[in-house]
Amino acid sequence: KAKEAGRDGFRFFTPELNIKAHERLALHDGIRRGIAQSEFHLLYQPQVELEFGRIFAVEALVRWNHPQLGLINPNEFIPLAEETGLIVPLGEWVLYEACKQNKRWQDAGFEPITMCVNVSARQFHDQNWTSRVMHALGETELDAKCLELELTESLVMRDVNEVIATMEELRKVGVSFAIDDFGTGYSNLSALKSLPVSRLKIDRSFLRNLVEDDDDKTITAAVISLAQKLNMKVIAEGVETHEQLTFLRENHCDEVQGHLFSEAVSSTEIGKLLQNQQSRSGLAPA
Ligand code: C2E
Ligand code: MG
Ligand code: MG
Ligand code: MG
Repeated sequence: KAKEAGRDGFRFFTPELNIKAHERLALHDGIRRGIAQSEFHLLYQPQVELEFGRIFAVEALVRWNHPQLGLINPNEFIPLAEETGLIVPLGEWVLYEACKQNKRWQDAGFEPITMCVNVSARQFHDQNWTSRVMHALGETELDAKCLELELTESLVMRDVNEVIATMEELRKVGVSFAIDDFGTGYSNLSALKSLPVSRLKIDRSFLRNLVEDDDDKTITAAVISLAQKLNMKVIAEGVETHEQLTFLRENHCDEVQGHLFSEAVSSTEIGKLLQNQQSRSGLAPA
């Protein structure tokens, strides 16, 4: 299955809706209504340690079940939610739901894992954001050590000092940070060194042609060694084939996330995977 997905994989997995102007307007009202009417839900994609195959974390990925348009992928509505500021209430909902779910798995007796939540610039820079994250942790009774926030490279590289100060407030209580889509933006390497970040996520675009493209190989290997020299973990996103996996192993990548292991699935499915992992070994590639 992973092989078929191959080069065209991303077209297959994220069909474009091709939203037109009038539909955008409708979507704008729709996001507000959708939050109120529980039209959003989260799926969770496992993140796997390469060495032992253990699921140590999941990434929360939001979906919108629109009453007329059907299931909509985040690439279709997150940019709009960011433009309109509706990402703030939506992101708040995502954060609570994700923390609540992680606590539920722990209460069900599974070994604690980390919940990774995507955070947009607009949310991050919103007033009192850090105290609202702490509030979400308090309300859901989730240990802060089990929450990781994914920030994009462009977010962290703008106003670096201010960003570091905000991150430090949350890091003090135990929350960790990852840089998402690493390699697609512009990174100030000396700033990267001073960021309180635990993990770099190599963007899926480098993985896509990894096996055929020597430049992508070079970049991927360089990012892995950069992260390790900076004492960060490194995770490759969008791993779909055994060939990619072999390359990542040979280059000592720490962790992987991709359809070869699992796509984003429901909380129930994650529960089954955690159950299996507890009784047997880790998650094997498909
Ligand atoms: P991201 O944070 O980089 O998330 C990874 C995306 O890659 C997810 O797409 C995931 O399903 C997809 N993916 C993972 N492995 C593979 C693979 O092997 N093959 C292929 N073809 N795709 C793979 P998704 O769920 O459509 O999300 C797209 C983007 O939307 C995310 O990219 C993130 O930037 C944004 N997003 C999703 N949920 C949220 C959210 O709750 N808040 C915010 N602010 N952004 C979100
Ligand atoms: Mg992410
Ligand atoms: Mg990413
Ligand atoms: Mg992305």
